[in-house]
Amino acid sequence: MDIEKWALEAMIPDKTRLIFEHIEPEYLSDTLGRLKGYAQALVFPISTEEVSSVLRYAYTNHIPVTPRGAGTNLVGSTVPIHGGIILDLSQMNRILEIDRDTFTATVEPGILLQDFQSEVEGEGLFYPPDPGEKASTIGGNISTNAGGMRAVKYGVTRDYVLGLEVVLADGTVLTAGGKQIKDASGLSLKNLLIGSEGTLAVITKCILKLIPKPETSISVLVPFGDLKTGIDTVLTILQADANPTAVEFMERKVVQLGEAFSDVEYPRSDAGSYILLTFDGHKSEVEANIKLVGRLVMSHGALDYIVLTDPERALDIWKVRGALVKAVEAVSEQEPVDIVVPISKISDFVGYIHELEENSGMRMVNFGHAGDGNIHLCVVRGDRNEETWHRELQKNMEHAYAKAYEYGGVTSGEHGIGISKRHYFLRETPKENLLVMNQIKNALDPRHILNDQKSYITGGNQNEEVI
Ligand SMILES: Cc1cc2nc3c(=O)[nH]c(=O)nc-3n(C[C@H](O)[C@H](O)[C@H](O)COP(=O)(O)OP(=O)(O)OC[C@H]3O[C@@H](n4cnc5c(N)ncnc54)[C@H](O)[C@@H]3O)c2cc1C
Repeated sequence: MDIEKWALEAMIPDKTRLIFEHIEPEYLSDTLGRLKGYAQALVFPISTEEVSSVLRYAYTNHIPVTPRGAGTNLVGSTVPIHGGIILDLSQMNRILEIDRDTFTATVEPGILLQDFQSEVEGEGLFYPPDPGEKASTIGGNISTNAGGMRAVKYGVTRDYVLGLEVVLADGTVLTAGGKQIKDASGLSLKNLLIGSEGTLAVITKCILKLIPKPETSISVLVPFGDLKTGIDTVLTILQADANPTAVEFMERKVVQLGEAFSDVEYPRSDAGSYILLTFDGHKSEVEANIKLVGRLVMSHGALDYIVLTDPERALDIWKVRGALVKAVEAVSEQEPVDIVVPISKISDFVGYIHELEENSGMRMVNFGHAGDGNIHLCVVRGDRNEETWHRELQKNMEHAYAKAYEYGGVTSGEHGIGISKRHYFLRETPKENLLVMNQIKNALDPRHILNDQKSYITGGNQNEEVI
């Protein structure tokens, strides 16, 4: 059915928060901008009540709704493929409370990660989840269970979400969890909603766990002659109980792209790969761990051990790491892959990708979170025409995903499935699992108005007769 303007205008009285014509293209896509959808309305709610009334209206009238944070996802999950309403949460961006007694913060979903992190750090507190894109929203981070650099020590977004307020597809407001640490009370709806990519409900309030801000944080850059020696050394570091916060690996060839993009030069251009580590905590503990890891890596074939004591230099080195996806993208269209394998299998998996690259002639560059097995492979299109690119990409990636699953891995470590990873995810996931996921979708959103046909959803709104 067509959207009745007057109905939305009655719910959102401020006209600047309601757009019907000339919706900017960025709202019809994700951060890569290649997949495009269409929409009849773009709505910026500022309260749970507004979200609830828009959803109730959409649900009653079978209108598709695409929830959106900052739109920084890389998998097409904010592309409004069925038209309807884009529900942009970016103006619900207040910190409602920082509660020092319970070490919690209550925030609206649209606050940017960078703003939230700097606010809590100003209070001597710390929110550990740290995905590379700091201009993403907390609501988006929760909906994708964002990971990032510090997962090896602190875990992922899920580990810091204590409670949620959400609005279900039919407008019902629900709270799950709270400020308490323990909860053995029925099913964990909160955990079901985390990582659900806007397919089950719209998040309107988040209670997040904080910890005391670490006294110090120091990064170290370790160049190796080749990638395999570097990755193999990571296991030794982790087994030594040196408690690193971040352990990233990068092939030299992708670092070169990052250097050009960021205008920063890495030392030891003769390296074949780098491991970039951070240690945080009490000063004495950090210094001891840095010494311990230094001894270990030098005896495992590192070319050098560069402790980044100058904070400016450390920021520059991390700037290159943070810019790698954009750096590859600046050279050619590419497919960012987010496969995760057990950490003991990273080296074998990257070796397999090198074989695939050699046999297929398709350029693939590797970097990622070595400490948690999350590999960010970028498959480069080069000058292939559209048809050849998609055919060759799919063929090679089917092999890559099959190998990851053979090693006990999964499709996505942190970016989510969206549209781009659906083919591989549906192919590799047991039918029984998909059936249960779709039964949950049907229970919470029987009319399939929320982000339909994304991620695990196979049924579509053929289930309308369910209610
Ligand atoms: C350069 C770069 C680096 C990145 N590095 C990382 C990284 O290290 N780790 C990582 O995990 N990700 C990374 N990402 C991916 C991206 O930043 C994350 O997926 C992020 O969590 C998305 O947040 P967002 O606010 O942009 O959400 P969006 O992109 O707007 O939305 C993502 C999904 O969440 C849903 N959603 C958003 N808000 C809500 C809400 N309030 N309620 C319900 N559903 C909602 C959307 O429907 C969509 O399905 C990176 C992206 C880029 C461009």
